[in-house]
Amino acid sequence: MNDCIFCKIIKKEIPADIFYENQDLIVFKDIAPKAPIHYLIVSKQHIKSINHLKEENKDLMGGMFLTAKKIADKLGLKDKGYKLTFNVGRGGGQIVDHLHLHILGGW
Ligand code: AMP
Repeated sequence: MNDCIFCKIIKKEIPADIFYENQDLIVFKDIAPKAPIHYLIVSKQHIKSINHLKEENKDLMGGMFLTAKKIADKLGLKDKGYKLTFNVGRGGGQIVDHLHLHILGGW
């Protein structure tokens, strides 16, 4: 059984403040924001981290970055600037083992 917290959000088994969704990705507010505006762009496919990417995930990753650009625009971050971050592994600060891109801004 998959007890991944992000998989549960994707399946709508637990609530999240969802901002955008398409067939590959879901974007929701980080529950413990590290910036005035902090969202997570999350792959619907359960991939553990950047370390677990395969060649076949190229389109998914491209979609993640293009979605980040779109979300930044929708959140009003485009002109001021923002950070995009992947934490990879425990040493990189990753606590949820499900591929996600942080978008942080609003300072
Ligand atoms: P990372 O450290 O890169 O694995 O980031 C995981 C992020 O997920 C953290 O910033 C957490 O605050 C966030 N997070 C954990 N659980 C939830 C949840 N149920 N809903 C929204 N964000 C969450």
